[in-house]
Amino acid sequence: MKDERIRVAARWLHEAERVVVFTGAGISTESGIPDFRSPGGVWSRYNQDDLTYQRFRSHERYRKLYWEYDRARFPAMRDAQPNAAHHAVVEIERSGRLAALVTQNIDGLHQKAGSSPDKVLELHGTVHAVTCLDCDRRWNREEITARMEAEGIDVPYCEHCGGPLKCATIAFGQSLPADVLDQAFHHARHCDLFLTVGSSLVVQPAALLPAEARRAGAKLVLINLSDTPYDAIMDILLIGKAGPTAAALLAEFARL
Ligand code: NAD
Ligand code: ZN
Repeated sequence: MKDERIRVAARWLHEAERVVVFTGAGISTESGIPDFRSPGGVWSRYNQDDLTYQRFRSHERYRKLYWEYDRARFPAMRDAQPNAAHHAVVEIERSGRLAALVTQNIDGLHQKAGSSPDKVLELHGTVHAVTCLDCDRRWNREEITARMEAEGIDVPYCEHCGGPLKCATIAFGQSLPADVLDQAFHHARHCDLFLTVGSSLVVQPAALLPAEARRAGAKLVLINLSDTPYDAIMDILLIGKAGPTAAALLAEFARL
């Protein structure tokens, strides 16, 4: 019975002192941002092999293509509103139990919902900033895109060092920020409840986080629409949509 599993998960949440919430693209689909595997999204119009970090580095034409793709996907993320699942994560933080919110998402919807920026660990970066690949300087995205529009530029370069500018997300072939990854693993090893929402758990090394938490003795809860390779290690599996399922969990939690 799903209701019974939600009750048990709510009790675990109530008893927990250090919760790690781990989210993937599935938490944002109800906000209108398609996940990777859904057909018809911006992603499916591009060949992923052309959007790797190595290609971006290699030639102006790939940088141009990347920026075109990036500017095509951005408006949906900028205009999206957080849904009930993002709000549920805010409630967990307000209860004083949230140790960290680790996300694979780049859309910034957790912060928009009200999660504290210092709790959010963005493993794959964010679309809301732009960085210089050579000197690591960082800008607000709008600042750079306004300049691109005003000057009719397809590919922006750093005014300090001349390096290529790229949105601050992690492209295929680009390594994850080591400090953010370290913090995520640290929190996974020191939490007592690890709640995954909307991730297919196939992207490494992030997908190793729940297993790491389990090894350290945490209880694992997963809310997802489809199967994942880690279903067997979950203590509670809640198959369903993130919004209503997380809302039901928090409603039950509020009664305790
Ligand atoms: P994924 O696309 O691999 O998997 C998403 C998972 O969420 C799937 O298992 C799917 O069944 C599930 N799902 C979809 N809608 C759901 C819903 N309403 N409720 C519950 N579950 C739902 O996503 P991923 O594992 O996060 O990896 C893909 C990568 O692509 C990410 O690392 C991310 O960087 C990037 N991405 C980000 C966004 C975003 O920021 N919103 C969107 C697409 C892709
Ligand atoms: Zn620079």
